[in-house]
Amino acid sequence: MRKPLIAGNWKMNGSAELIETFGRTFAGIELSSPVDVVIHPPFPYLDAARSAFAGTPLALGAQTLNPLPSGARTGEVSGEMLAEFGVEYVLAGHSERRQLYHESDEQVYERVIAALTVGLKPILCVGETLEERDAGQSEDVVLRQVGHVMARLEPGQRRMMTIAYEPVWAIGTGRTASPEQAQQMMAAIRGYQASFDSALADALRLLYGGSMNASNARELLAQEDIDGGLIGGASLKVDDFKAICQSAG
Ligand code: PEP
Repeated sequence: MRKPLIAGNWKMNGSAELIETFGRTFAGIELSSPVDVVIHPPFPYLDAARSAFAGTPLALGAQTLNPLPSGARTGEVSGEMLAEFGVEYVLAGHSERRQLYHESDEQVYERVIAALTVGLKPILCVGETLEERDAGQSEDVVLRQVGHVMARLEPGQRRMMTIAYEPVWAIGTGRTASPEQAQQMMAAIRGYQASFDSALADALRLLYGGSMNASNARELLAQEDIDGGLIGGASLKVDDFKAICQSAG
């Protein structure tokens, strides 16, 4: 039985006030079964979030990291710095990083390794574009992105991983993958993982991301291989995000 994980990716949104609101709201949340919940705010809010989330089920996540431990990289943040601020999870390979900042599969791998080195749990984001889906390449693209990282990790490192399948055409568009489309890809990812590590394949958490909201979460989360969600827009509305967590728990 895999424990669900609900992750909120605030991207370049949010405020100190929203951090406080989440801390207050989640202090009293009731879930019928255990769920891991993590918020990925922008870097400047991490310290305030660490205080505001203390005593709540909310864990702290970051949205990216630089693969180097320190150095002349203006504007960047290392894994060690994140760990120092109580960060537990970090996204790697979000499609916005791949598309807008041209992060390659290899650079995503380097970020995953840097995260694992300091004990952070990476959430590896993968997903096909609309053109790739229309060309019938969805599974090839997604399994290439997964394999580029997972096939090169040690078994102990793989156990720290979560994979988020986020079809690019569903992110921020209001167009969600159907539960069947999402389940089909999750089964392919788990099947791929089973081809070289069957014990891990059973334990590996797979999240769906792409316009998940309070109305569609329950149906998506009911799919056999969907173990949680990576939520963008709806993670900025505390009541919606809370409802999604309650759908999972
Ligand atoms: C995301 O940014 O990972 C995401 C899934 O965004 P949204 O929920 O807004 O589609």
